[in-house]
Amino acid sequence: MRNRIVYFISAVMIFAGCKSNFYSKEDFNSVLKIDSHAHIDTDKGVFEDQAIKDNFKLLTINVDVADSAAVIFQHKIALNSIKKYPANIFYAATFYFDTTGFGTESWSKKVISHLENDIAGGAVSVKIWKNIGMTARNRNGKFIMVDDPALDPVFNFIISKNLPVTGHLGEPRNCWLPLNEMTVSGDSSYFAENPQYHMFLHPEYPTYEDQINARDRLLEKHPDLVFVGCHLGSLEWNVDELAKRLDKFPNMAVDMAARICHLQYQSARDRNKIRDFCIKYQDRLLYGTDLSDEGSKTAQEITDQIHTTWLEDWKYFTTDEKMTAPSFRGEFEGLQLPKEVVRKIYSENAIKWYRLAVIK
Ligand SMILES: [Zn+2]
Repeated sequence: MRNRIVYFISAVMIFAGCKSNFYSKEDFNSVLKIDSHAHIDTDKGVFEDQAIKDNFKLLTINVDVADSAAVIFQHKIALNSIKKYPANIFYAATFYFDTTGFGTESWSKKVISHLENDIAGGAVSVKIWKNIGMTARNRNGKFIMVDDPALDPVFNFIISKNLPVTGHLGEPRNCWLPLNEMTVSGDSSYFAENPQYHMFLHPEYPTYEDQINARDRLLEKHPDLVFVGCHLGSLEWNVDELAKRLDKFPNMAVDMAARICHLQYQSARDRNKIRDFCIKYQDRLLYGTDLSDEGSKTAQEITDQIHTTWLEDWKYFTTDEKMTAPSFRGEFEGLQLPKEVVRKIYSENAIKWYRLAVIK
């Protein structure tokens, strides 16, 4: 009888032990999470309030999308948000890439003095964007790539401030492929509607490999630069290629913003490969979405979109449920990553790489 009781207790413990290795959908609210790639461009507070409801902290990233006024506007919004939601919202600064005078000392001094002001205001990182490599040209009409020596003083300044760079360079590899060879429909529909950005149609622009190589040369040149590559470091199409860079550059991590569908696409072909990749590089991956609120949608639309995206992603990383995605045909299974890995991807890595003063 005693043996049977011992057996029963051990069986319960083993069962409970196995179960506790993984989170479930019900744990979504109780686990602290960070969306390390968001864009809040309005002071409505809808995004921030939903984040608090869903136990998320946010890193809102300013982007050099238009002109200096747009950068100043985003900076103002970010300062308001971090003041209103202390320890919940963090922000990455950026600078307006004015090509006038590029290559001179006064150009880099101006950028550095702008960044000094942003860092004093609480920025945890500096964002550099794909206009470097894809739009900005020097006075000879040549594209300015990110490893251009004229940018070295700026990167050296950021290193001296112990801040990471958040780098979105290049585009998904699909951008350089014909529409019918693109892997996910989000890309093919976007580039069908925006042929001006579809690089397959513009061979006069730098190639996909040019973008990746320039980024790699930047990291070779500045081994002390802490670099968080946005969108899986623009190597979203192949975890082996991403793994090569993570092996080569110990100060590089990547966020997953707007590229989780590419992991899912690869999961549908070989789930264990993607799962093993996430476990092997568990200290280098940051959850992020690229969700944004620029103030044009209703509060309901924004909260529905944010909440649904966050829940679906949580399901993919924590459970082994069968899933489908709107961006490609076919089923795939959730990765059901161990709890420890989920916590790293969902918060601990962002706290470590961006040095976020999060109050848990
Ligand atoms: Zn973004």
